[in-house]
Amino acid sequence: MIRIIILGGSFGGLTAALELRQRLGPDQCDILLLAKDDRFVFIPSLPWVAIGTRTLEQISFPLAKTLKRKTIRFSQQAARQIDPAKRLVHTDQEDHHYDYLVIATGHRSANEAVPGLGPFDGPGHSLMSPPEVLEARQSLKDFLLNPGPLVVGCAPGASCIGPSYEFAFAMDHLLRHRKIRHRVPITLVTPEPFPGHFGLGGVGNTRRFVEDALEKREIRYHTSAVVSRITSTAVELADGPKIESCFSLILPPLAGVKAVTDSPGLANAKGFIPVDEYYRHPAFPNIYAAGVAVAMAPVAPTPVPVNFPKTGGMTEQMARAVAHNMAADIQGGARISKDLFAECIMDMGDTAAYFKAEPVRPPRNVARMAGGKRWLWAKKAFERYYLWKARRGKTFAAGWGW
Ligand SMILES: Cc1cc2nc3c(=O)[nH]c(=O)nc-3n(C[C@H](O)[C@H](O)[C@H](O)COP(=O)(O)OP(=O)(O)OC[C@H]3O[C@@H](n4cnc5c(N)ncnc54)[C@H](O)[C@@H]3O)c2cc1C
Repeated sequence: MIRIIILGGSFGGLTAALELRQRLGPDQCDILLLAKDDRFVFIPSLPWVAIGTRTLEQISFPLAKTLKRKTIRFSQQAARQIDPAKRLVHTDQEDHHYDYLVIATGHRSANEAVPGLGPFDGPGHSLMSPPEVLEARQSLKDFLLNPGPLVVGCAPGASCIGPSYEFAFAMDHLLRHRKIRHRVPITLVTPEPFPGHFGLGGVGNTRRFVEDALEKREIRYHTSAVVSRITSTAVELADGPKIESCFSLILPPLAGVKAVTDSPGLANAKGFIPVDEYYRHPAFPNIYAAGVAVAMAPVAPTPVPVNFPKTGGMTEQMARAVAHNMAADIQGGARISKDLFAECIMDMGDTAAYFKAEPVRPPRNVARMAGGKRWLWAKKAFERYYLWKARRGKTFAAGWGW
């Protein structure tokens, strides 16, 4: 019996597991999914948890039941190290042997890049994971009782840029609703060379659209900003101003998780996994990777580093390709290699913006952007739909709502 191990139970790991089981029956292979967390969390809704319009329970579900239904074994165990030569995954509980491995372990927030980033090692706040979001939500309650200047943005080298805009727009909306916006100057600081770059070099008219939106909402912004330190009273920019702030949410640059960086020969210097056009490790053809764990070069050089945004939609595209190619390795058939596309809906508080970049790297066949309330409804409907579908172990493609 062929043994497949999947590390990670989020967009990459869950999609790969379900898609593999569709292609390979329980008589052909044993699939074991190991994840640090026992729940699937719809990460794009984390900003809504931070501002209090969702709870974590509403945007997550337990993995065990969904996977059992599809004859996929699940165990909540964090990989500690991978030994590609011996084909072993070591965890604190036991060692697991594999014939094929999928790594979809996402990221580690490299908070050490900027002193004070936080939240558990500095005064800053973050949206990058459920514990950090719960901390932000609690601190935000105190902030709303005693409001003051707010700074939102990204540190140099960040790749997950969109959520910083979503949080800035959501806060503007919330503060106006509470009639305390006049007490809260909002500043956005970003390593992007222009607003709406998103690590994609801009898509269609995103630059003009996002600049207009920021100006309309009186959100000041600094582009090509190098955040150098966060204190409890300010966000400091290298060669720039010290911006007064009593709530600072600066998203960090990302790195690979420790289990991957601790596995010699597997990852690049930042801990991301190099792959070929089939999402296969170049040195270990029985190891595939999907999602944020994959090494991808920036779309183009920028004066301050901005990294490639591996979105949820792209993660699913990679995971589907991984399942197809791994199944082809096992039972014969041609591998596939497709260009990634990006499709996202950005929440803007009282409205939203949709954009599509196909392929993701310019020049593109499609570079489309549209704004309006209907996109906010679409984003909310997609969240419900996605959770409904994923909980039931269905994996049909649903691109439009990301
Ligand atoms: C705040 C926020 C908002 C976002 N909004 C959007 C959006 O609107 N649209 C969009 O397309 N994308 C969005 N994204 C990006 C999207 O969430 C990511 O692309 C997606 O989560 C990546 O999925 P992944 O499976 O690669 O990794 P992750 O979602 O990071 O999951 C990693 C998985 O690996 C597991 N794991 C970690 N370490 C180990 C280990 N050592 N052993 C075993 N398991 C391990 C974890 O438990 C988890 O299950 C957003 C991201 C953030 C942070």
